[in-house]
Amino acid sequence: MAKNKAKLIIFTGPSGVGKGTILADFFKKVDNNIVYSISNTTRNPRDGEINGMHYFFISKDEFEKLIKENAFLEYANYSGNYYGTSKKFVEEKLKEGKSVLLEIELQGALQVIKKCPNAVTIFIKPPSFEELEKRLRGRHSESEEAIQKRLIAAKEELNNANKFHYVIENKIVDEAVDELIKIYNKETK
Ligand code: 5GP
Repeated sequence: MAKNKAKLIIFTGPSGVGKGTILADFFKKVDNNIVYSISNTTRNPRDGEINGMHYFFISKDEFEKLIKENAFLEYANYSGNYYGTSKKFVEEKLKEGKSVLLEIELQGALQVIKKCPNAVTIFIKPPSFEELEKRLRGRHSESEEAIQKRLIAAKEELNNANKFHYVIENKIVDEAVDELIKIYNKETK
């Protein structure tokens, strides 16, 4: 049997594009040679979000302590909150021979691209900006102010899609998931 190649996979795309939906289905369908990196964040949990599953929800003070301790592979201040990836978790899993998927925004992705040139980078884009705005408003999870901040960030993210190895358009979720599975198999098997 061919040996599995452990890879760091960066999965980036604007807020509201459907990254969570795609990944939920992806992880149901693939083998267990890949793990999802649970990020730390200072934002408040949304309804239904569980600490230690969707994120580690921590205070600003705790986050800043971790920055000082150099605990993050990358971190960013996005839309008024901190988000960061645990360096230890990623290193341990890669050592165990598992691929690690980072679902992170653009600033963090660019940091990892610099530090880890072998990372596989995937950008997920909406069919159009208007569609993205519709989806972001449709999920009713953010205030108008937060939506505006996310839309501004989205423009910047979409302008940087060309810095990624693969760009997937999320028009039909099943098709986007299939494309992601193909990339995963191609890069790791
Ligand atoms: P949300 O608040 O909607 O869960 O996430 C906002 C943005 O932060 C999303 O684009 C998400 O991918 C990104 N994000 C989540 N975790 C991390 C992280 O650890 N680092 C960075 N840089 N971005 C993250």
